[in-house]
Order: sequence, then C-alpha cells, then structure tokens
Amino acid sequence: MTHAKHRIALLPGDGIGQEVCESAVLVLDVLARRHGFELVWTEFPWGCDFYLQTGSMMAPGALETLESYDAILLGAVGSPKVKDHVSLWGLLIPIRRRFDQYVNLRPVHSVRGVRSALNSPEPIDFLIVRENSEGEYSEAGGRLFAGTPRELAVQESVFSRTGIDRIVNFAADAALERKGKLVSATKSNGIIHTMPFWDEVASEVAESRGVPNDLQHIDALAARFVIAPQSLDVVVASNLFGDILSDLGSALTGGIGLGPSANLNPERDHPSMFESIHGSAPDIAGLGVANPTGELWASSMMLEHLGEVDAARELIEAVETVLSVPGRCTRNLGGTGTTRSFTDAVVNHLEPLARNASPVVKV
Ligand code: ATP
Repeated sequence: MTHAKHRIALLPGDGIGQEVCESAVLVLDVLARRHGFELVWTEFPWGCDFYLQTGSMMAPGALETLESYDAILLGAVGSPKVKDHVSLWGLLIPIRRRFDQYVNLRPVHSVRGVRSALNSPEPIDFLIVRENSEGEYSEAGGRLFAGTPRELAVQESVFSRTGIDRIVNFAADAALERKGKLVSATKSNGIIHTMPFWDEVASEVAESRGVPNDLQHIDALAARFVIAPQSLDVVVASNLFGDILSDLGSALTGGIGLGPSANLNPERDHPSMFESIHGSAPDIAGLGVANPTGELWASSMMLEHLGEVDAARELIEAVETVLSVPGRCTRNLGGTGTTRSFTDAVVNHLEPLARNASPVVKV
C-alpha cells in the first residue's frame, strides 16, 4: 500500500464522456478506499458546450492550471454543433503537445466475457504505440484560392529524427518487456520522403536496442490485424497510422466502447492524460446506456501510471467479472444493462473487498 495522495484533473467533456467519467469516479473512489490512497478530484467543464458559450474549448490559462495535476482523466470531446477540427485542435491536441505526451499507448487484448469480432478462440494481446506529437497531424499547410474553382489545400506531415527516435525507443522498451517482437507501420513505397526516413530511423533504433524490427506496409498490416492478430506483440506507428490501427484493434476485441488510451509523457515532466478511445457518441448521449469499460480500463492505466498497480489490476479483474455475466453488459454488447447498473455491478464486486480492506494508515 502506498497511502499516497493523487490530484486528478477530471475533464468529462461532451456527450457520453460525462456519463463514463461519472462511472470512473465512483469506481476509482472505491478502489482508493480499499487500497488506502487518496484521489483528489478537480472537475473542469471544458469541451464543446463551453465552446458554444465562450468561443473557446478551454478557459484562458487552462494548460497552466492542468500542469499542476498528477494526471488528467478525460471523457470524450466532440459535438455535432462544433466542427471536429475545432474541438480536436482546441483541447486534445494542445494538451498532448504542451505536456509533450508523445506516446499514445493503446493496448489491444481480448476481454473476458466479450466475444471477438473474429471467429477465433485464440486470445489477442498486443500493444499499439502511436506517435502522438507530430507526423501527419500538423498545422503546416493551408488553402489557396478559397471559394474559386482553383481552390487547393496543402497539408504537410512533419517527421523529426528526435520524434521517431523517442517513440521507437519507447516501443522497443515495451517489446523487451513482452515477447520482444516489434512491427513498425510504414508506407515507404508510396510516401517517398517521410516514410523512408521513418523506416531508416526506426531500424537504427531497433537495431541499437537489439530488437528485430519488422517493417510492414500499413495496408498489409491492417490485413494482418484481421487475419493473424495473435502474431503481433508491439506495433509502433506514426500519428495517423496509429490512430486508424487502434480503432481497428478495438473493433477486433469487442468494439470501440471498450478500448483505452494513455497519452504519456514518459519523462514525467508533465501530467499524462488517460481516456477511452471512443468519442462523445451523440447518438446515445443522455440515454444512460454507454458502456463505461473503455473509461474504466483507461482509469486502470492511470492508476498504474500513478504507482497503484494492485488497484489497477483489481479494476480490470472487476470489469471482466461483470462483463462475463450474460445480459448484464450494456446494449452495445447485447445486454440490457445501463451505464449505472454496470457501474453498480463493478462497485458491488469491489465493495466487499473494500469492507475487508486494512484500515488506512495515518502518519
Ligand atoms: P470521434 O470522431 O470523436 O472519435 P466517432 O465518430 O468515432 O467519434 P464515437 O462517438 O466513438 O464515434 O461513436 C461511434 C459509435 O460507437 C456510435 O454509434 C456510438 O454510439 C458507439 N459507441 C461509442 N462509444 C460507446 C460506448 N462507450 N458504449 C456504447 N456505444 C458506444
């Protein structure tokens, strides 16, 4: 037991982000009691509603405010009333960049109690390491001749040696802790400047770390995700490729509502941010039927990052136990449960454990 105090900035955001964050706070508070650490929550109302009221996705000075927290837990951001690029570039991307959260970690593994979209009984377990600070998601570019027949848009990708070096090093570390197999997503046959550079630096880094680097074109790799996901261990990819592959990964193991994502600043100079990979799901927002698994799994990654490893493991165990009971899950998995009933089931699974927990030691 660590008896630590962790200050968490809570950004529920929009739509079902609010619902799944409520679930995460309820469950995490139970785990904190059981494991004798303290979570101090500060909630911020930033997101698309805030934008519609104020013209900004976040309050002035938001990044300076967030800087002082130990971690950020985010729900989801997005609304049909606000253009996607406005919400993304007004909140998520500034946070990722300001706090140099250059690793986006997306574990893909079979969840007990959830049927895979693939008809294979063999479990899936691999890790996607997505570059999160540069690549294809760049502001470099613009439009010319707007509103005329000659209108054109140019979008530049940005790949730096530093950026590729650090993400591949992180992925190599992860591979060395797992089965030692690294696949690097590329498209160097079609994208003739940035991707050969990515391949070159990735191979140099992997070789220096003693990890075999399997360079695979993104199209063939996407097919491999479906045909032979069990052959994968760690996949490292640029910002765009990693984004697409991780949605595919979550689809393989039960759907977009289940996947977690950690935006990490590995050096811990700044707070890291944890979120489910799904969006604000306007089609089901407010109905109380969102599945909170992705947010709970992301919360487990946050606990692990904060050093609360036992609590992190117990959270996953509790969620999988609840998912294993037929009918108890939410309707995206064929059940009749609501966000609240699912959350209550997770809490009820943990509460007897909480009641048996050792008392918190006060010093
Ligand atoms: P974004 O562009 O913000 O990533 P998106 O357009 O990919 O979002 P989502 O908001 O993630 O879309 O929703 C995609 C579909 O998945 C919707 O039909 C939504 O209802 C469903 N969905 C997403 N998350 C969940 C969840 N936690 N529980 C149940 N269904 C979900």
